[in-house]
Amino acid sequence: MSVKRPKVAVVGSFMMDLVVKAERRPRVGETLVGEEFGMFIGGKGTNQAIAAARLGAEVHMIGRLGQDQFGDIFIESLQKDNIHTDFIVRDTEVGTGVGTPVIDADGNNSIIIIPRANMRLTIANVEKAASAIAEADVLLLQLEIPIESSKRAAEIARENSTAVILNPAPACQIPNEFLEFVDYLTPNEIETEMLTGVKVSDQSGTEQAARILLDKGMSAVVLTLGSRGTLLLTENTTASVPAHKVNVVDTTAAGDAFCGGFAFGLAQGQKLTEAVRCGNAAGALAVTVMGAEPSMPTSEAVRELLNQ
Ligand code: ADP
Repeated sequence: MSVKRPKVAVVGSFMMDLVVKAERRPRVGETLVGEEFGMFIGGKGTNQAIAAARLGAEVHMIGRLGQDQFGDIFIESLQKDNIHTDFIVRDTEVGTGVGTPVIDADGNNSIIIIPRANMRLTIANVEKAASAIAEADVLLLQLEIPIESSKRAAEIARENSTAVILNPAPACQIPNEFLEFVDYLTPNEIETEMLTGVKVSDQSGTEQAARILLDKGMSAVVLTLGSRGTLLLTENTTASVPAHKVNVVDTTAAGDAFCGGFAFGLAQGQKLTEAVRCGNAAGALAVTVMGAEPSMPTSEAVRELLNQ
């Protein structure tokens, strides 16, 4: 039996992470000699596109890079993961987005993000990619690009019966006129509290928050709760899907792996709970590996974990 290859379109961000490790943060006016440096591709859109592609989806990445060396590195990396890059715009005036995480001896992380070209992704740029959105089974969105461009992508998806997943990260308020075009919302604990004002530390708060979000018109709300797993709420179902027990190395990009896995599952035609399980497995595997891009799992690893 031949299985159709699921198609996912991602309209999202690119962030080159320039990671510095040092004993401590420098004081004002001080020059401090640090210990380690690393450069890693990232950005929620990029991570999620890579996650979906590694699981076997045909992925179109849509976004805006600078016409610079960082931009070239992104194109090369995405293509290595067989991601289509034809609808990525190169900005000749503003460079590729960067993040500068500083990690101290205690492992505490603080980061400055400069979105740069990401915030210049226009509605016209998105409309140019309408064919990729229309042909996809699932459109995957986050909030690291201009909200009006994300909303336009969601509208195009709705007009063409492409399901829309919005990962509302980083946490911010989202206009109801945008949420109208969203089918599945995947906030983590912080984003859920930001969107609802309800604490999600216990089961009743978690369910109450999910209900508030569902009432905004979504088909399903999927709250990701870290090591507590996921709460799935639809009009007819409330399901807690537990997390896998794994050896935690670095929780960076767990949510991105989850979204890539969930999108892949839905695009493949899996039932909602099955797609959530696929997301949970991808999220769990991501926390067992250091970094973002290197931690996005393969389909074999996810299958193996799901079969355990
Ligand atoms: P974010 O990275 O956006 O904060 P979460 O921390 O909620 O997202 O993680 C997303 C998903 O990844 C969770 O719902 C869970 O399935 C999985 N996950 C995250 N942390 C762990 C963990 N410590 N152990 C097992 N699975 C995890």
